Amino acid sequence: MLTMANPFDASWWPPGFLPVAAVLFGAILGSFLNVVIHRLPRMGGYAPLPEPRVPLPVVGNHTLEIGDHTVAQPLPVHPDYDLAQPGSACPACRQPIPWHDNLPVIGWLLLKGRCRNCAATISPRYPLVELATAAGCLAIFDCFGATGATLAWIGFFAATMALFWIDVDTMMLPTGITFPLIWAGLAWQAWAGDPAGAILATIAAYLGFRTLEATAFAVFRRDALGRGDAHLAAALGAWLGPRPLVVAIAGSFVLGSLLGILVEFVRQGYGFGATWRSVRDRQTRPFPFGPALVLGGWVAMLTGDRLLRWYLEGMA
Ligand SMILES: [Zn+2]
Repeated sequence: MLTMANPFDASWWPPGFLPVAAVLFGAILGSFLNVVIHRLPRMGGYAPLPEPRVPLPVVGNHTLEIGDHTVAQPLPVHPDYDLAQPGSACPACRQPIPWHDNLPVIGWLLLKGRCRNCAATISPRYPLVELATAAGCLAIFDCFGATGATLAWIGFFAATMALFWIDVDTMMLPTGITFPLIWAGLAWQAWAGDPAGAILATIAAYLGFRTLEATAFAVFRRDALGRGDAHLAAALGAWLGPRPLVVAIAGSFVLGSLLGILVEFVRQGYGFGATWRSVRDRQTRPFPFGPALVLGGWVAMLTGDRLLRWYLEGMA
């Protein structure tokens, strides 16, 4: 008796296999995202390249000053520095990292967070990104099941996870991620749902954020939102469509305010009074808004427009 094998049917897989696979895949994906988060800004010349182990060649008619951290931006870009090469190395001693020390989460735990060669501290952010990506992949699988939607949303989640940390590090949201993310979202909606609504949400989010940006500049006489925030908001509109977009944006303003106050609290040395005065007198330093948009987008990804309906029903 021949039965049709359908991988998009959860019962086709052994029990418990798919959730475990989602977690393992997420951890490996998170490991790759760590590379993207670290290298993409350096590839674009927005962060200093690491100190080279061997002197770099002259490219074109100028000498590359890679490793000189005082070079003005945009920094020189080296043609042999991309996502694949050179291999991972300790930022402190430049010793190449063997594959077994680079295993997601486990490598960091076995090394107790220190380089095998020079004992320099390895940031706990690497295993944190891997754990968060694993948790996110499991949550997406739990929400969408054994469907193509799970794969699509894992793609959205991975791109926004990278944007979250790149914005934290550099206060920038590279168009190399945001623009393809907009097109991918529109393609996804064209295939799965509501392309007209997605196009409307994309345009509304972009114009809304550009208007906010201009208004904030007119009022505060300084940049409160960057162009990248409008690109990211447009990508959220493309992926989520109109109603969940409202949830994402509203959520991002709530979470952004809380995150902003939390960051200021840490910057002010955990002083409540100093934090309150700096927030009241708008002495707060620039704070990236991208992470708040990403968190709002994740809430909307997992809950759709349920929070909006709940809110509207509460109002009625
Ligand atoms: Zn080292």
